[in-house]
Amino acid sequence: MREERKTLTRYTIEAEHRHPGSTGDFSGLLNAVATAVKIISNQVGRGALVGALGSAGVQNIQGEVQKKLDLISNEVMVGETEWTGHLAAMASEEMEGIYPVPATGQRGKYLLVFDPLDGSSNIDANISVGTIFSILRSPDPAVQPVVEHFLQPGVAQVCAGFALYGASTMLILTTGDGVDGFTLDRDIGAFVLTHPKLRIPEDCGEFAINASNERFWEPPVRRYIQECLAGGTGPRGRDFNMRWIASLVAETYRILTRGGVFLYPRDSKEPAMAGRLRLMYECNPISFIVEQAGGGASTGRERVMEVQPTGLHQRVPLILGSRNEVLRIERYHREQASGHDQTFDDSLFNSRSLFRIP
Ligand code: MN
Ligand code: MN
Repeated sequence: MREERKTLTRYTIEAEHRHPGSTGDFSGLLNAVATAVKIISNQVGRGALVGALGSAGVQNIQGEVQKKLDLISNEVMVGETEWTGHLAAMASEEMEGIYPVPATGQRGKYLLVFDPLDGSSNIDANISVGTIFSILRSPDPAVQPVVEHFLQPGVAQVCAGFALYGASTMLILTTGDGVDGFTLDRDIGAFVLTHPKLRIPEDCGEFAINASNERFWEPPVRRYIQECLAGGTGPRGRDFNMRWIASLVAETYRILTRGGVFLYPRDSKEPAMAGRLRLMYECNPISFIVEQAGGGASTGRERVMEVQPTGLHQRVPLILGSRNEVLRIERYHREQASGHDQTFDDSLFNSRSLFRIP
């Protein structure tokens, strides 16, 4: 008997069959995104062989050095989706303004927002990178799209996903009915459903944070990490492990497979910045996936997906992962705000580094 394998194409068409009246636009768009992801995966995988590594010698709108692969990936995402007729416009980390579909093309009903290459500062070190995307409904497909059409909170997302270019290339997807994971079968050039219904364990023993920013953290985050570091003899009564890849897609996938919590909190390093990660094309799609897998995603003070966006490239704090840990960190923020901070040993914060051995 032939082994039954479900490709992404079949998965999306079957999903449309379950929704009578659907037009096929959505599966068409998703499969175009999947094609873009396969092309980017190929470029990332060939790396130096195709001269794709290194800096492009320019900066993006956010003052970050663009890598050649940032620009290649952006061009691939635009080129593989703009012709489909399913989009009204798109927005990307690598483009300052929105990109309406060319006037010559048919205008569709969806908006596509993406980070073409997440984690790209790590690309030359051959650390896993990925592509993040979010699909929104165009509020008024009859008119020329404007930035305001994109400024919808994360709860309005129709679909979110990310690709991970790791040892395997994977595609993780949600349309609001759980999270499914696909692995790219390079022999047949198709994504195959390998990880149906991913669930994040509610409790965990791993945290991920850039500890070099410790001195800039706010008290609730310092309290949480201090308690984790105190281990079995501290208030948590158990030992924790630490992980830090500095690649949001890789951190998220690890948490999807074995739980954990990831923090890029607000800090005082650059007070003008509310956080490091971008709401529209990093935090919202990743939060949608994490929540659909049973986890939590918060700024510390509110649910990420309920933040009303004010700009395409807006940044927010991001705390995500195992539900009970995220709830605990939110509680620490509330307790601090209300002056009832139950910090177990405040003197530790002032007298020594978290990482110095006593
Ligand atoms: Mn990114
Ligand atoms: Mn990027």
